[in-house]
Amino acid sequence: VRKDPDRNFEFYSAKMRQDVLEAVTLERELKQAIKDGAIVPHYQPQFDTENGNLCGLEVLARWPVEQGGMVSPGRFIPLAEETGLIHPLMEHLVDSVLSQISQWHREGFLVPSVAINVSAHQIRHHRFFDWLFEQLSHYDLGIDALTVEITESAFLLDFASVQSILEALANRGVRLSIDDFGTGYSSLSYLSQLPFQELKIDRAFVSEVDSSQRKRAVVKGIIELARALELEVIAEGVETESQLSQLKILGCDSVQGFHLAKPMDGTSLTAMLPPDERK
Ligand code: C2E
Ligand code: CA
Ligand code: CA
Ligand code: CA
Repeated sequence: VRKDPDRNFEFYSAKMRQDVLEAVTLERELKQAIKDGAIVPHYQPQFDTENGNLCGLEVLARWPVEQGGMVSPGRFIPLAEETGLIHPLMEHLVDSVLSQISQWHREGFLVPSVAINVSAHQIRHHRFFDWLFEQLSHYDLGIDALTVEITESAFLLDFASVQSILEALANRGVRLSIDDFGTGYSSLSYLSQLPFQELKIDRAFVSEVDSSQRKRAVVKGIIELARALELEVIAEGVETESQLSQLKILGCDSVQGFHLAKPMDGTSLTAMLPPDERK
């Protein structure tokens, strides 16, 4: 085998250049997509384990591209965060969500709390929440229309400042949910110092809840912890009937996952909403 370090270098640098080019192209396309309003909210239903009723919705960003394709949020959300495009992106997305909720109200539907994902970058950006409160009143919606999901990793750095931001939000009545619980390093003492109302058990644990006694014990422990801290507990990524029945036995309050319903656009979701009997 002929070894040629220079050629190797060229090969790698070409690959690196390719990656950079792709990222730059994607960034340009993302910017344009946000401007065009091409990124749209989909909604994944959440159900009460006790009565099976719809009890919440999670907003998941979708970027449809030609021929029925989709750019995955796992790809464009991190890019949006790195480039600061997360701010215009979320403003566009949340604005469509609030407009959709108020339309559902006008049509006489009972709309459960709608959860939005707020990234670590955004939580430190005070303007976002000022803007959010203004938009809520613009659409004549109460603060309880929304739940804010924040991943564990958001408060790894700079705990004290994130804590004070979360406290300010909680004082204004924002319902806070801790996302991806169990995947980060959040210590139990941190958790008890933050004003969350809901804990979301990550799919990594949910997928193992029916596979062994030991794994079930971990989920059981998380649910007991949530109970002790008076948090509601939801399991995400529920894919099978057997996971669902284990979660019911363990006393999980609500569930979300492909087994129950996939994320769908607002029009499809409308068919799942109950009428508002108070009207
Ligand atoms: P996440 O917040 O943990 O969202 C749950 C992800 O699990 C979603 O992926 C959802 O489609 C997927 N999922 C739901 N049920 C199941 C299931 O039963 N099995 C499996 N395997 N997956 C399931 P998605 O939509 O690709 O989003 C990925 C991540 O991108 C989200 O993870 C969230 O961190 C981020 N993301 C999505 N939309 C937004 C957004 O509007 N803003 C921000 N900041 N982040 C977002
Ligand atoms: Ca989430
Ligand atoms: Ca999650
Ligand atoms: Ca996740």
